[in-house]
Amino acid sequence: MGHINAKLARLNKQQSAEDEYPDLEHHHNHMAKVLTLDMYKRLRQRCTPSGFTIDNVIQTGVDNPGHPFIMTVGCVAGDEETYEVFKELLDPVIQDRHGGYKPTDKHKTDLNPSNLKGGDDLDPNYVLSSRVRTGRSIRGFCLPPHCSRGERRAVEKLSVQALGALAGDLKGKYYALKNMTEAEQQQLIDDHFLFDKPVSPLLLASGMARDWPDARGIWHNDSKTFLVWVNEEDHLRVISMQKGGKMKEVFTRFCIGLTKIEELFRNKGHAFMWNEHLGYVLTCPSNLGTGLRAGVHVKLPNLSKYRQFEEILKRLRLQKRGTGGVDTAAVGGVFDISNADRLGFSEVELVQMVVDGVKLLIEMEKRLEKGQSVDDLMPAQK
Ligand code: ADP
Ligand code: MG
Repeated sequence: MGHINAKLARLNKQQSAEDEYPDLEHHHNHMAKVLTLDMYKRLRQRCTPSGFTIDNVIQTGVDNPGHPFIMTVGCVAGDEETYEVFKELLDPVIQDRHGGYKPTDKHKTDLNPSNLKGGDDLDPNYVLSSRVRTGRSIRGFCLPPHCSRGERRAVEKLSVQALGALAGDLKGKYYALKNMTEAEQQQLIDDHFLFDKPVSPLLLASGMARDWPDARGIWHNDSKTFLVWVNEEDHLRVISMQKGGKMKEVFTRFCIGLTKIEELFRNKGHAFMWNEHLGYVLTCPSNLGTGLRAGVHVKLPNLSKYRQFEEILKRLRLQKRGTGGVDTAAVGGVFDISNADRLGFSEVELVQMVVDGVKLLIEMEKRLEKGQSVDDLMPAQK
């Protein structure tokens, strides 16, 4: 602990808080909305057991002012304790980002796919593919913005060992990024299986891309329907996906695989970061809770041009992205439509919103195709 106290003493003596306070005047992110000089003064006195400071928490939001219409989060966690030590900043950020989720609220988990109603009949003429992903952090290791090279390698080694015990349909292999050719990597990215290269300024400024591609990689089964990303934004990203509209099948594989993985890590003496309030603890505050994003690539060339498209998505608690991932544009009227929430709803509830919502979107699309009105299908706010 000696070095941490020395770090804080150094931080707090050389320059005053006023000297250090970032200029956030033109920023549009949740961090900038919440942080004040007074709060900064108080939080500057603190640091997590692994040495993560308030400046480490906010750096990505300082360097990325955001956009008036696209509110980013503007902060990250460096370890499990970040959310506790800096709760004065993070609680209100979480509350703003997650629809009023309060510091006293408790998160619920439901990974039982039989509780999902329907979901295997999304029209494959419209739904090209279905996917469910989440993140998991391994307790005792710093998170990607703050982990050391050795820690990151330890996470990789542990993951490869644990995942090696998966059997049957889930049996697979690990492919380290540094052993792949550029062409192999690009093919996996183009086929929507692999994370992008670290070009996003959000990723770069948070420190998550340090030492790239060291200790990063992808584990997947032979059919590439069950995949695990290692050391991208989170220690683990667990993904189930396949072509077509059988979301229930995808979610069922996701639940079975994820539960199995949790057991394998626990058998090796490593629990996932979790608490009653935040659910699964992840790097970005926007992913806390379930960490779950269930989505489809769906053809909506007519509905996406309809004046109420954004409003319909909002009412259904859905979000849209382009099919190349976050920050990409839709091509040919095909969108990535997924749940907007992560926290305050269970996994089953979120997938249910996607299943029910996407069904309605397709029904509307079919009406508009025939030049018919969709007014009577307009949903109420969920
Ligand atoms: P994530 O939330 O998993 O980080 P991104 O938006 O960063 O998602 O996208 C990661 C990759 O996953 C991209 O290549 C994207 O095309 C792919 N992807 C996301 N949703 C789907 C889907 N429903 N079907 C196929 N690929 C998908
Ligand atoms: Mg991503």
